[in-house]
Amino acid sequence: MKKNIALVAHDNRKKDLLEWVKHNHKVLNSCKAFCTGTTGKLVNEVLDDVTVLKSGPLGGDQQLGAMIAEKKIDYMIFFWDPMTNQPHDVDVKALLRMTVLYNIPTACNRSTADFMITSALYNNDEYEPAMKDYSVYLQRFDTGLKQGSLGPALY
Ligand code: PGA
Repeated sequence: MKKNIALVAHDNRKKDLLEWVKHNHKVLNSCKAFCTGTTGKLVNEVLDDVTVLKSGPLGGDQQLGAMIAEKKIDYMIFFWDPMTNQPHDVDVKALLRMTVLYNIPTACNRSTADFMITSALYNNDEYEPAMKDYSVYLQRFDTGLKQGSLGPALY
């Protein structure tokens, strides 16, 4: 099955990402790419199957975060800029948090991206990222609701 790969780069890193995409276009063309707006316009010139979302600062990072929560993204390459403040810094942080929460392989620099794309696991359909068990967290109010022990009513 085709893998879904998220590709994002901040402005100062777009050239680096594009170089990497060109270098790896054969492998990447076996995947579906999902990109934030401006990155996507550039990547679209190199790859065949690109879905262009909103520009990062206009909600594109959040769209990718939502896709990760829905298990629609297999990998992410995000060349973020370590030298420039971003207006949507909270969105960047939220997106990176989602990749950790859902254990999505994520490369934020070229060498990690190189390791990832040359890994034997890259196109392995058997590999499922392990998820931590959040059932205790999800059930934390269950007993309280049943026993009516959620504390005094607020009204
Ligand atoms: P852009 O967004 O591809 O629209 O420039 C990148 C980002 O998330 O900052």
